[in-house]
Amino acid sequence: MPRIVQYECDGCGKIKGSDNHWFSVSADGNSFQVSRFDRNATSVFCGEQCVLTALSDWLASAKMHTARPETLAVVNQ
Ligand SMILES: [Zn+2]
Repeated sequence: MPRIVQYECDGCGKIKGSDNHWFSVSADGNSFQVSRFDRNATSVFCGEQCVLTALSDWLASAKMHTARPETLAVVNQ
């Protein structure tokens, strides 16, 4: 018996249909990468608005992790 796999938007919970324009997102502490829908991706989103909401959340989280100032290198001349 064939197995039916459903994909659910990680943003709003919408179920993927056959004609939807979905995206996959791969994000970690250093990067946020968007690509066309990939059934093997860990995060999928139903459209631009949900991707942008996820990007906004990631940017807010990235700002918190880089709150301390970078140390400047001293170069002897
Ligand atoms: Zn969505």
